Amino acid sequence: MKLVCSVSVGNRQLSNLAINSKQKHVKSTLALCKRPNSEDYCIIHFTNQNKTGTKYNIKGNVSQILTRFINDGKATIQFKMPPHDLYVQGDVIQLKGFLHLLKRVLENKVSPKELTYSSMSVMPVTTKDIAPKKLVIRKRSEYPIRGLPRTLELLYINDISKYSVDKGILQLCKLKILDLSNNCIEFIPEELNVLHLSELNLGSNNLYKSNPKQWTWMGGNLSTSLTLLNIESNKLTYLSDQIVKLRNLITLNVNNNQLTFITHGIGSLKNLKILIASNNSLSVLPGSIKKCHLQLLNLCNNSFTSTRQNNVVVSVPNNLPVYSLKECAARRILELRLTYSPAIIPYTLVHYLDYAKYCVCGKSCFEVFIRVPEMLSVSSITQELVTSTTSSYLTLDCYFCCLKCFKSSYFIRNRNPVI
Ligand SMILES: [Zn+2]
Repeated sequence: MKLVCSVSVGNRQLSNLAINSKQKHVKSTLALCKRPNSEDYCIIHFTNQNKTGTKYNIKGNVSQILTRFINDGKATIQFKMPPHDLYVQGDVIQLKGFLHLLKRVLENKVSPKELTYSSMSVMPVTTKDIAPKKLVIRKRSEYPIRGLPRTLELLYINDISKYSVDKGILQLCKLKILDLSNNCIEFIPEELNVLHLSELNLGSNNLYKSNPKQWTWMGGNLSTSLTLLNIESNKLTYLSDQIVKLRNLITLNVNNNQLTFITHGIGSLKNLKILIASNNSLSVLPGSIKKCHLQLLNLCNNSFTSTRQNNVVVSVPNNLPVYSLKECAARRILELRLTYSPAIIPYTLVHYLDYAKYCVCGKSCFEVFIRVPEMLSVSSITQELVTSTTSSYLTLDCYFCCLKCFKSSYFIRNRNPVI
């Protein structure tokens, strides 16, 4: 039997000589096992520094077991030889179980089969045991009783019908990859954005139940750290505008949702290389997608029309209204990628900034813009296109932030511009 705990070793021989012999508590594993071909039992104390372990015989060698503070998860085991006191701290239930077994060994009530030397074959304890970097949970019973180790860098929790993200995950400051796919999660807490994740898999959950204000987790540290986001199969009817804050995204998978449009901010994700938007209800793409340089764009099974429509003839305005001071400031804030939150500016302004439109040039606009549908040859924005339509032309819903952007686009579409 193994007990993962924290142990401080006191040497009575040294303390008899008035030397402070008590060591610091260190993460340890205590193994209670039977020696092969022998009736002897022993406890082996492993630590990260002592991987071969210190062996203590049990029979006739345990002088006392102090359990006064057992309900606080503390106990002391005193051995005769070597004259060591093990001050053990750990989970109350596991510690009680360990001491119960020890007591039965001392009373000769344990059958040899219960504790064979083979249980030592998993020893010595490795760094992985003490400080695991990866944890895969596929059954509720596999959830660690003492909570998730803080050392985790990769965490997979799948198929256990989780409805929420537990707080323990939000404490894992070393976590790089988090996979919570195939659960029933309805929303992600904003605090997730304190982590520095590079990959987040939330596929096959119930994120369609998130209200529009519950996407603020897209931001914070994830703005710069997250490179892969998978939110496929969540019955989403919209892709939150907050996605523009994940500005280092390389791969975005929104496959198998009910999206009718993709947020206009997508064009401001300069590093985006793979966009998987198959099995949705898209009939247009945002004009800002012209700014993307994708390697793969998957648009299979959407509602795009397969025939190329002629560009809509639009009258070209001579002037646009003067921008309000609010719009000027907001455009500048997004251009400089300044961070903002309800903690520093009024919520109405946060809302105003969050719902920016994005021009084909990649810049934002708010109340002053020109909006025109346009046809686009998709090969100009992606190296590889996967689509179920025969046409490689798609309708874009284009916003133009200023007359200059509109005219240059108009000039490209019409070789003899009227302007
Ligand atoms: Zn523009």
